[in-house]
Amino acid sequence: MPSTALTHLTTLVTNDPAYGDGGPLGLIEDAALVVEDGTVVWAGPARQVPAADETYDASGRSAIPGFVDSHSHLVFAGDRTAEFAARMSGRPYTAGGIRTTVAATREASDDALSANLARHLREMLRQGTTTAETKSGYGLSTAQEARALRLARAHTPETTFLGAHLVPPEYEKDPDGYTALVAGEMLQACAPYARWVDAFCERGAFDGDQTRAVLTAGREQGLVPRVHANQLSHGPGVQIAVELGAASADHCTHLTGADVDALAHSETVATLLPGCEFSTRSPYPDARRLLEAGVTVALSTDCNPGSSFTSSMPFCIAIAVREMGMTPDEALWSATAGGARALRRTDVGRLSPGARADLALLDAPSPVHLAYRPGVPLVAEVWRDGVREI
Ligand SMILES: [Zn+2]
Repeated sequence: MPSTALTHLTTLVTNDPAYGDGGPLGLIEDAALVVEDGTVVWAGPARQVPAADETYDASGRSAIPGFVDSHSHLVFAGDRTAEFAARMSGRPYTAGGIRTTVAATREASDDALSANLARHLREMLRQGTTTAETKSGYGLSTAQEARALRLARAHTPETTFLGAHLVPPEYEKDPDGYTALVAGEMLQACAPYARWVDAFCERGAFDGDQTRAVLTAGREQGLVPRVHANQLSHGPGVQIAVELGAASADHCTHLTGADVDALAHSETVATLLPGCEFSTRSPYPDARRLLEAGVTVALSTDCNPGSSFTSSMPFCIAIAVREMGMTPDEALWSATAGGARALRRTDVGRLSPGARADLALLDAPSPVHLAYRPGVPLVAEVWRDGVREI
């Protein structure tokens, strides 16, 4: 494959402090980027760009690494418009609404689920997301969860087994029996199609012991844990995530000082999902508190039909800056490099040599505009593996 030099970039975010201004974003002004065989081979000032087979004039746009959306739930059918409208009329969000989506998903054909998944991944791509994780969790039986992950695996390697999303109606009187199913037969059937194992540790979903049982069993099958933790209330989720070496504790809205401390002294990333608080009119997590403590923070959409039906990382960045105490630079880092950390990936979330050539070109002189101009479709082009896709 011929090499291509992208020139005339007003700014380039490499997320590599060895480049440019030396900050976390590794920002280079008046920059160029050379890609070859789907990989970044050079980044630096435009005046120093080496010879390449082809030149692509980026017309003064800014380049950022493609967003890494490390938390979504895209294998589903139906939607929950009525529930959203009711909630916006004053009804509180509880975990139970998931059952509506479970019923619709179980009824749907493989083709319908795949088409819906592909549609949402495409929607993400149009908004600059080049890496997306997605979870099962709307099947809640061995066959249905395995089906969801098998379908998801055809679209992304970042698949998460979330049998412990909610206790399905048929196990309502026997939640421990359901937990045993998830940690046993269901896990066995799902592990071949999953990289990660997750549990919704929350009142009304799974308690600490149940969460630990599922994640420990998953780990024994070679899956790496991640946890829906401390979303709606204080609880043991974050502590369990740290104890089990989870890649991320997701939500982190209700944290004690001990929770923040545990995260700060761990490899576990705190993944914040502001679309969820936005869509449920709930208090936002305090990103500033986590950052001051030294916690690694990722931003993600939590795209799902119930509590956060947005696929837009720029939207999440804008909220994180406005409502969660993040600077524009921090929010951009968290939506790219932070997401990569949460997925334990070093080949995405950055644009320095060796990284995959996954990037978004913004119709803006600086990526600060992502927060400064909320709701504006600034993502003009998206390249993946060195090929322009949008
Ligand atoms: Zn979620």
